[in-house]
Amino acid sequence: MDDYRNVCYLIHFEKPLDGSGVQHYLGFAPDLRQRIEKHRKSKGARLTARANHLGIDWRVVRVWRGADWKSEKYLKGLGASNLCPHCSRYMRNLPPAHVSVEEMQGRPSSVR
Ligand SMILES: [Zn+2]
Repeated sequence: MDDYRNVCYLIHFEKPLDGSGVQHYLGFAPDLRQRIEKHRKSKGARLTARANHLGIDWRVVRVWRGADWKSEKYLKGLGASNLCPHCSRYMRNLPPAHVSVEEMQGRPSSVR
């Protein structure tokens, strides 16, 4: 099963990190399950490592399949918080991404 290959994913932190107000991480992964494992072990990215260190919970709230590095750039341009189902009231009014969109339910650790 390779449903989580070549996806862009959006991580929502349960609360903002430090004083930065940053509450999202948007990335591209050739293999999301593997990448989430790395994030959980604080080897995926500085932000998720920081969140782990601070004991701030986080979860993947959106996944875009069939993505590549350009998709990541495009989505970042739209603004991660605008794309977050938890944070954006306007999400449904945004133009759709050029890749398929599917929300992933549950915690990243449940991704199989
Ligand atoms: Zn959010």
